[in-house]
Amino acid sequence: MATATATTLQNFINGEFVEPAGVEDVINPSTGEVIAQAPVSSEEDVDRAVQAARKAFETWGASTPRSRSEALLALADAIIEHGDEFADLESADAGKPRQAFVDEELGMCADNLRFFAGAARNMEGKAADEYVEGFTSMVRREAVGVAGQITPWNYPLMMAIWKIGPAFAAGATSVLKPAENTPLSTFKLAEVSAEILPPGVFNVIGGHGDPAGAALVQHPDVDMVSLTGSPETGKWIARAASDTLKRVHLELGGKAPVIIFDDYDAELALEFIAATALFNAGQDCTAATRILASDKVYDNVVNGLSEQALGYRIGDLDDPETTLGPVISERQRERVGGYIERRPDHSQVVTGGKEADRPGFYYEPTVVADLEQDDEMIQNEIFGPVMTVQRFDDEAKAIEWANGTRYGLAASVWTRDIGRAMRVAKALRFGAVWVNNHITMASEMPHGGFKQSGYGKDMSAYSVEDYTVVKHVMVNLE
Ligand code: NAD
Repeated sequence: MATATATTLQNFINGEFVEPAGVEDVINPSTGEVIAQAPVSSEEDVDRAVQAARKAFETWGASTPRSRSEALLALADAIIEHGDEFADLESADAGKPRQAFVDEELGMCADNLRFFAGAARNMEGKAADEYVEGFTSMVRREAVGVAGQITPWNYPLMMAIWKIGPAFAAGATSVLKPAENTPLSTFKLAEVSAEILPPGVFNVIGGHGDPAGAALVQHPDVDMVSLTGSPETGKWIARAASDTLKRVHLELGGKAPVIIFDDYDAELALEFIAATALFNAGQDCTAATRILASDKVYDNVVNGLSEQALGYRIGDLDDPETTLGPVISERQRERVGGYIERRPDHSQVVTGGKEADRPGFYYEPTVVADLEQDDEMIQNEIFGPVMTVQRFDDEAKAIEWANGTRYGLAASVWTRDIGRAMRVAKALRFGAVWVNNHITMASEMPHGGFKQSGYGKDMSAYSVEDYTVVKHVMVNLE
């Protein structure tokens, strides 16, 4: 069997690595060098993977919660056991500072799987009763079937875990397509899963949205499609999935507002906000990049965030001192730079605002102040190491502006006034609201958007429910 660490990767279908229709280069964003060839799958490759998942569902869907739970626990252990290899691969194609991945992501991936192992054994239907005299009703929760799962490039391993964890806990099988530019860790996950999962339960196919992703979305034997990606792709998928009426689960972009009131704790807040804005070079749908600061503390916030940004160290990904890696591609760096070049005259770049002077796709940590609500930097995801700051004068305006984009994934409120924190948290239309905190996640708690950030939840028991269907069984007592 080929391995995922070989230079030329193959698709993983029915427990084996098999030749795809074609291959293409994978680039290391910190050097611009080619590091591997990854599969570019055809519609036939997708069909083969779906047939394997369909067949495997016959037994996996009927397996006991205990056996699925044990498999998920073994997969969690395998991720830790192969932690060094995962760190090398994730750092190489996604451009992550290696130590930051080990500290912040690897353990979380294992913890997610362990949570899902527990959740598999806690799923239940409704207690039986005689709602019509002489007939006993019960509600069964059954696995949805074959899940087509599509992940983005910013957290390749973690997003794969967020997809397969709830699916496998529920008894669904998976055909997963990683993003075309970051497939390495997902193929490694397939490789380690071969020792643990029955063939066909987990299939990984490489390739682009077209034709591989689209073929998965439109395949009649796929029962549900789950995407983490951009709103544009999500909308296309929702439309395309309507032909076969398959269930759709969408985790899309975000533009998290960070509302800072006069009475915030500056010592706690600024370091924390900068850290969560610049983690993963700002390529995070929950990144704390859209800061709204109250009039009285506005200057302190702008200066404090700039000071924090200047403390970030751009460098080699293997150097544990490196705190800021590159963005994913030259195209992404141009996208980020484009926002800065087109910035409105009323705004000012306080720190950064240019490419870093070194090989690879690095961009300096940047703070842009004096932005206004309709500016494109406020309305659209930048997905780079750029913090924007707006000035507000009262609570109502802060709430209106915070809610005033098409996104609704995550937000945070910084104040010592408990009443205000509760009021604002209630008024914010986002899937997660943190108070005096931002981005901290727990496997038990749901993650997912409102509005154009999508629907369906990741992590938590809610995500397992998303991979199930409810069946009513009624038994005649005669
Ligand atoms: P993208 O939508 O371009 O790509 C995401 C995935 O969809 C890739 O695997 C891609 O190949 C695939 N794809 C593209 N077109 C497709 C099609 N027509 N049919 C099927 N699959 C298709 O997004 P991206 O640029 O890779 O990722 C960044 C986006 O993901 C950002 O908007 C970010 O906010 C979002 N994101 C959201 C979350 C969340 O939890 N809400 C988490 C991480 C990233």
